[in-house]
Amino acid sequence: MSRYKDANCRICRREGMKLFLKGDRCFSEKCAVDRRGVPPGQHGATGRRKPTEYGIRLREKQKTRKTYGVGEKQFRNYFEKAARTQGETGKGLLQALETRLDNIVYRLGLAPSRKAARQLVLHRHILVNNKMVNIPSYVARVGDVIQVKEGSRQLDCIHSSLSAASQRPAVPWLDLDKTTLTGNLLEMPDRENIPTPVQEQLIIELYSK
Ligand code: SF4
Repeated sequence: MSRYKDANCRICRREGMKLFLKGDRCFSEKCAVDRRGVPPGQHGATGRRKPTEYGIRLREKQKTRKTYGVGEKQFRNYFEKAARTQGETGKGLLQALETRLDNIVYRLGLAPSRKAARQLVLHRHILVNNKMVNIPSYVARVGDVIQVKEGSRQLDCIHSSLSAASQRPAVPWLDLDKTTLTGNLLEMPDRENIPTPVQEQLIIELYSK
C-alpha cells in the first residue's frame, strides 16, 4: 500500500488543525499549526475559494484517514464494514479505527505518535495475548492483552513516550500496568470516549452519495 511520505505538519496545516502526528513536537512551540496556521503551498496564505459541501465532507474524511494513518482503500473497507453491521455507522467506523493495534499502542502511551506505534508493531516489540503480532492493522478485541515483549521493555523511546503521555486525553476503555508495560482492552469505546475531533456524519454523507 502506498503511504503518504510528505511532511506530517503539512497535513495538519492543510486540515487547519493539530492532528498530533509527530509526538512531543505537537505539544511544543515548534508545532507548525501554532507557528503558521495557514494551508501549505504558494497560495495558502492568500486564502482559497469557499469550500463546497462536497469539499467539506471530503476534507473530513481525509482528516480522519490521515489522523489514523490509514490508506484510502482500507478506510473505505472500514466504512463499508461499519455500514453493514448493526448500530451507528459513524461510531462503528471510529471503533474499527481505534481498535487497530497501532492505535492502541499509541493510546496506551507506549509510542509518541501512531506512526511510531506502527514502527513498534512492525519491529516485533508488541505481543497480543502472549503472541507476537507485527500487523499494525490487527484488530484487537475486548479482553485482549497488549504487551511490550520482555526484551524490549527497556527501550528509551517507550519510557520517554510514557512520561510525555500524561499530556494526552485519558481513554477509560484501556488500562495499562506501567511496571510490566501490559495493557488491556477493557471494552469497546463509546463515542464520547474517543478523543478524536471528527464529525463522522460528514464521512457518512460523503460515502452515501
Ligand atoms: Fe501537526 Fe504535530 Fe506538526 Fe503540529 S507538530 S503541525 S500537531 S504534526
